[in-house]
Amino acid sequence: MMNGEEYLSSLRSMKTVVYINGDVVRDYYNHPVMKPAVNTLKATYDLASDPELDHELHSLIVTDSDLTNGRINRFLKIIRSQDDLLARMKLQRAMMRYTGGCFGGRCVAGAVIHALWSVTYEVDHENGGKTSYHEKFRNYMKMAQEKDLAISGNITDAKGDRSLPPHRQADPDLFMRIVEKNKDGIIVNGAKLQQSGAPVAHERLVVPTTALGPDDEAYAVAFAVPGDAAGVIHVNDSACVNAKFEAMESEDIGNAAFGMHQSAHILFDRVFVPWDRVFLCGEWKASRDMVHRFSDYQRFASSACRCGYIDLCIGAASAMADYNGVAGKAHIHEKLVDMSVDSETLYGLVAGSAALSTATASGVPLPETLVINAAKLYMNQAILRTGQSLAEIGGGILVTRPSSRDLKIPKVGDLLLKYHQGRKGVDVEDRLKMARLSESLSGLSSATPILSVIAAGPPATQRLNFRLMTNFKRDRKAAERLAGISDQEIETKERS
Ligand SMILES: Cc1cc2nc3c(=O)[nH]c(=O)nc-3n(C[C@H](O)[C@H](O)[C@H](O)COP(=O)(O)OP(=O)(O)OC[C@H]3O[C@@H](n4cnc5c(N)ncnc54)[C@H](O)[C@@H]3O)c2cc1C
Repeated sequence: MMNGEEYLSSLRSMKTVVYINGDVVRDYYNHPVMKPAVNTLKATYDLASDPELDHELHSLIVTDSDLTNGRINRFLKIIRSQDDLLARMKLQRAMMRYTGGCFGGRCVAGAVIHALWSVTYEVDHENGGKTSYHEKFRNYMKMAQEKDLAISGNITDAKGDRSLPPHRQADPDLFMRIVEKNKDGIIVNGAKLQQSGAPVAHERLVVPTTALGPDDEAYAVAFAVPGDAAGVIHVNDSACVNAKFEAMESEDIGNAAFGMHQSAHILFDRVFVPWDRVFLCGEWKASRDMVHRFSDYQRFASSACRCGYIDLCIGAASAMADYNGVAGKAHIHEKLVDMSVDSETLYGLVAGSAALSTATASGVPLPETLVINAAKLYMNQAILRTGQSLAEIGGGILVTRPSSRDLKIPKVGDLLLKYHQGRKGVDVEDRLKMARLSESLSGLSSATPILSVIAAGPPATQRLNFRLMTNFKRDRKAAERLAGISDQEIETKERS
């Protein structure tokens, strides 16, 4: 496994094309807007290589591989059991509590890897051995584990007119598609938008974003390419949050090390993919299972991750309450307890989806659909409540604290410090630091609320599962029986 420094040098050795705010940036990994994403991924390597950093996280992040028979980073492990699912859940929460930042450059791949692992297995079986996608994907994962690569999972297409399938779009490239096949491989065109942490990962692992029909065969493509493959272009897309990182001193940015979510548009301009890295090529029927599985897996990961986020908010809120001298007040306690209830309820839902998981033919378990979709919907609201509670507990200082430059103005700076004192015995500068972290965590001035609600699919897609899978007929019969309405009457009504 790589350590953090080796990870950095591996990024330096790549020729990844990254644009930030209009400029191509060769050493993008040193750019202020990219640093949090780099640091967060670096932490996944540091924690794996150095147990002293955090013993709990180290034991969660290092695991065994049945592909290499060696020790690997859990972000690359193929989940085979409920225990593996639960371990992944614990890792997501602890990792987020440790960084408060997005490790999407590794985490989203989990969803894509497990969808592909199970779907390629089934497709090969249905093709009666005429295809060997699963074996190719297995070899790819073994290679990634041996080299300890960060894989960015790329799902979201440009999509154009959302009401139309890929083949009916005005521009054929609005969904990722095969433009050419030759004896060596395929050439693809398309774009994957809003890809968390993509530029700081080594690999791009691409799958279709939507269920496809028979006319969409060219769009049924799954493949992997290195991030610096010819024709792959990244454009950082967090422009409004970037401004803060470029304009402000690091002391004025809450969680400057890890704290900004970074994502990029990835443009694939006639990118060549050799056959050994093509994992689906025209199997449009498989796309339905693919979408269902990666959606549930990503909802699993992001819901577990947000438990760690709420934990951090509880920590920041209780520190602010203490610094402000209101730690013992009943309404503050109530809010902190409510935040904790949200975190544990969400965790319980994620754990429940693992406990009720079902195995696919490949052995990979799938989190229970309705439970994990309930978790994601619960999380959407919980994260907004959490931000509000944190702001309410911390006070107006979260958004109004003076900048570090103001604090350096002769005389005025000292006066500002004097008037920002809290409880006696608390260092005023600590209070100011915690206020800035709280402002950032609250999400009221960052991408977090939108990320939580929209990433891993907007709420309508989770609700759809309930419309399709809730057993309304069973529940209605149960209620009507209790009310003394006979079966015959029920059937009559259903016929009419
Ligand atoms: C910060 C951030 C990070 C992300 N990270 C990743 C990542 O790492 N990897 C990745 O692959 N993706 C990522 N995403 C993308 C994310 O999964 C998508 O944003 C999400 O799936 C919604 O797609 P969209 O943004 O194109 O919204 P749209 O699809 O445009 O949705 C907007 C609204 O239109 C509705 N709508 C859309 N289509 C239809 C339809 N056919 N019928 C009826 N209603 C419809 C939706 O329900 C929604 O309410 C990220 C997104 C964000 C914001």
